Amino acid sequence: MATTQRRAGVYGKAGNLSRPSSAAIYGRWYDLRVDSGRARAYFDHNATTPVDPEVIAGVAATMRDEFGNASSVHHFGQRAKARLEEAREQLAALIGASPAELVFTSGGTEADNFAIRGVAEALEPLGRRHLVTTAIEHEAVLTTMRALERRGWRVTRVNPDRSGVVSAEALEAALAPDTALLSLMHANNEVGTLQPVAACAAVARSRGVLVHTDAVQSVGKVPVDVRDLDVDLLTLSGHKFYGPKGVGALWIRRGTRLLATMTGGKQERSRRAGTENVPGIVGLGIAAHLAATRLEEDGAAQTVLRDVLEQGVLAAVAETHVNGQGQARVPNTTNIGFAGIEAESLLIALDLEGFAVSTGSACSSGTLEPSHVLKAMGLSLHDTQNALRLSVGRHTTRDQVDRLIAALPAITERLRALTDRRAAIPGADRRPA
Ligand code: PLP
Repeated sequence: MATTQRRAGVYGKAGNLSRPSSAAIYGRWYDLRVDSGRARAYFDHNATTPVDPEVIAGVAATMRDEFGNASSVHHFGQRAKARLEEAREQLAALIGASPAELVFTSGGTEADNFAIRGVAEALEPLGRRHLVTTAIEHEAVLTTMRALERRGWRVTRVNPDRSGVVSAEALEAALAPDTALLSLMHANNEVGTLQPVAACAAVARSRGVLVHTDAVQSVGKVPVDVRDLDVDLLTLSGHKFYGPKGVGALWIRRGTRLLATMTGGKQERSRRAGTENVPGIVGLGIAAHLAATRLEEDGAAQTVLRDVLEQGVLAAVAETHVNGQGQARVPNTTNIGFAGIEAESLLIALDLEGFAVSTGSACSSGTLEPSHVLKAMGLSLHDTQNALRLSVGRHTTRDQVDRLIAALPAITERLRALTDRRAAIPGADRRPA
């Protein structure tokens, strides 16, 4: 109730901006669904989500009317500061946190860096020189770990099982007497599998190891409560739940030892220097409020669409399989392997037909890099290169899902007929094991 009133303040009194209708703002988004005469459908919500119209309105009003520097003592500064604190409360409410424990960042990547580097720097003088993570983390974690390795830290990367889930036992076995931090993602961005964070955190914390979870792909999709997860640090990012890009947060349990990595002024209680991105943070707060109110409804609707899509593709296209099937997953994600097809070619063919999808493999210097997640799951080289990630969202319709299912047989048949790439890829087997 209180947050709704506060939110109204952004559009109303302060902003003199009447709340826009969805049609007014989504008019543009819906127009984008038909581009150059082609109906388009977006199945890449794990890459980023469209910005909610309420968020757009709140950001615009804040940009226009709350230009003050939140550190300024005068009226303008204090108004901006008040907006910042409202957003902090809205975000805290979404993840069961206390507002003072949240530090705003420029997104998930910075929050991951802050958590890992911040703990490493704080605990190094105490003789800690070891980190534990998993082989299926986002590059924001993996690359940061590699950077610390170059500075003499030891890093243990635990593999998941074949279905994309890491076990608490495997993580426990990786802990050493000088382990500073366990960093374990909550939901995997490629296959959507939820990791047993609470169970792993209990083990690690009992051994005096701090626990960080990258919850970028779970916040706004499934209930996330920092106390239930029992972690010390949690990363989230606005653009994965209909908020703006370039804004996120690190939740830091009170009393956690970590040093600021962004140094400068005393913003964010000296934990993250730099003039705050007040409009972006307001947008993050509104997105968090919307996510909290819509979590159940969105989750239920997306589970239905995802399952229809998954079953539909498996039935319509021969020699397909789901990666991560049978495990607890976020409701919007499926990862489907198409035997005999390079996922990049399928992505491009689908884009030409108006469907935006993604792959975990990346094309670099003419060769296809396998998905590091599928590789860690133990899939064959071919199966790490033939998988599409399809992620639905708040605005995905049944019609879009049906159209994608209907389009796939002809496209996959054409690609399989064009080149039988399997012969060229060592270790490829047509049928997944
Ligand atoms: N962590 C995960 C699991 C992600 O999926 C992403 C983005 O895709 C990030 C971190 C990085 O977040 P940001 O794009 O806000 O820097």
